[in-house]
Amino acid sequence: MNIAQSPSSPETALPAQLRLSIAGKLVDAERSFDVLNPATNAVIAQAPEGSAEQLEEAITAAAEAFKSWSTLDWQTRSDYVQRYADALEARKEDLISLLTLEQGKPRHSQATSEVEAALYWVREVAKRHLPVEVIEETDEHVVEVHHTPLGVVGAITPWNFPMLLGLWKVAPCLITGNTMVLKPSPYTPLTSLFFGEIAQQVLPAGVLNVVSGGNELGQIITEHPAIAKISFTGSTATGKRVMASGASNLKRITLELGGNDAAVVLADADWPSLVKPLFWAAFGNSGQWCIAVKRLYVHSSIHAEFTAAFVEYAKSIKVGDGMDPTSDLGPIQNRMQYRKLLDLFADTRDKGYKIALGGTIDESLAGNFVPVTVIDNPPEDSRIVQEEPFGPILPIIAFDDTEEVIAKVNASPYGLAGSVWGGDRDKAIEVAKRMETGTVWVNEIHIHGIDIPFGGHKLSGMGVENGQEGLAGFTNTKTYMFRK
Ligand code: NAD
Repeated sequence: MNIAQSPSSPETALPAQLRLSIAGKLVDAERSFDVLNPATNAVIAQAPEGSAEQLEEAITAAAEAFKSWSTLDWQTRSDYVQRYADALEARKEDLISLLTLEQGKPRHSQATSEVEAALYWVREVAKRHLPVEVIEETDEHVVEVHHTPLGVVGAITPWNFPMLLGLWKVAPCLITGNTMVLKPSPYTPLTSLFFGEIAQQVLPAGVLNVVSGGNELGQIITEHPAIAKISFTGSTATGKRVMASGASNLKRITLELGGNDAAVVLADADWPSLVKPLFWAAFGNSGQWCIAVKRLYVHSSIHAEFTAAFVEYAKSIKVGDGMDPTSDLGPIQNRMQYRKLLDLFADTRDKGYKIALGGTIDESLAGNFVPVTVIDNPPEDSRIVQEEPFGPILPIIAFDDTEEVIAKVNASPYGLAGSVWGGDRDKAIEVAKRMETGTVWVNEIHIHGIDIPFGGHKLSGMGVENGQEGLAGFTNTKTYMFRK
């Protein structure tokens, strides 16, 4: 696969070729597919389209590598994963450039943060382990709970945060003694192929295999009898299919799926201080974020003033090519998602909702650029409130009564995350406690941590990533009992 240097890219040493990582080797595929720069829709690379046979080789290699990797002591595995973090760090600038080229997010801000967060995750997860839990210890009897690795994990990732969400899976999988076959989204395969190549310099052969290609590879992974667990991040629709096909051999399954997160601003909130953080919570990564604020409920006593100030701030935001350091937001990552947004924007206009900012996509532009759009108080049953737009469009909805807003927040079939903002912390916490979501923040948002479990309720997922629970998700619970 060849990567064309973007004319606007800074001085970098992007790899001229990226290959599949299988059994410790870098291999080409017979076929390839185009990878586009979403800022121009120009082809930036031909990515290898792994065949079913190559995927089979990768799974076999991972199963073979599991035999020795799983028996290494924890410290040795930790040293390997730390060395992987060092090797990634050495190519950090190239990873950032590649991420902007294939995903679109601004290089100087969001691409840098994503790569830095991903590297931090690898380094820190390498220090975590699941201790043996002693349940009972008497003169006669001992009961212990151990966590044993599962085997080969199949990782399937989306296109919005390919670096971070990929390495969120790799690091805990490896430290707990499993091996992996990772299949990135066909829209953003390059950074994953690159971190796969880097892994081959430091990890034993077959421990981490990366195979890019179409959705059908994902289907094969979910059905394959030698795969013990699927760690999937993507849409709810695909998540349901993953769960159905994983049933064949009762795979362990972690699903991180879609969301329609609400932020609730109570009447006593210090609302002027919230304009900027809530803007970025909604529009970061151009809204292509599972935990983006997608419904912003503001108390009716402050709704008009808040919306006016929000729109004022939003007007200062520049949407453009992520390689341009003056761009605050990049394009939509792919044409499929861009077309979904064209449809949603048309619905919003056709229904006559009040458009406070933006509202029309300029289709004459070469890139997938979508303007920052704010919809002022659309009805609760509108598509823009009920659906996950996954783009830079936000409804700001007025509410009068706390019970009413809690009911609206919880009426969603999704339950990923939510936030509550208020002057009276205890009252805000009371609202937060009643949100049916996997994560809820009070007077802050989007705090994540190595030791903080993250996962969705309802149609937003199953299981968690991160924290001890996330690590445990890569293991079997094994109870040992000894009669002394
Ligand atoms: P998607 O479901 O279309 O694709 C995700 C991955 O699944 C891709 O790698 C794809 O090739 C693969 N895939 C497609 N069909 C498959 C099949 N039948 N079997 C196995 N794998 C298959 O999702 P997307 O469009 O790439 O990502 C956007 C979605 O991801 C949004 O809904 C977003 O909210 C969600 N998301 C969730 C989280 C989270 O942590 N909860 C994080 C990021 C994104």
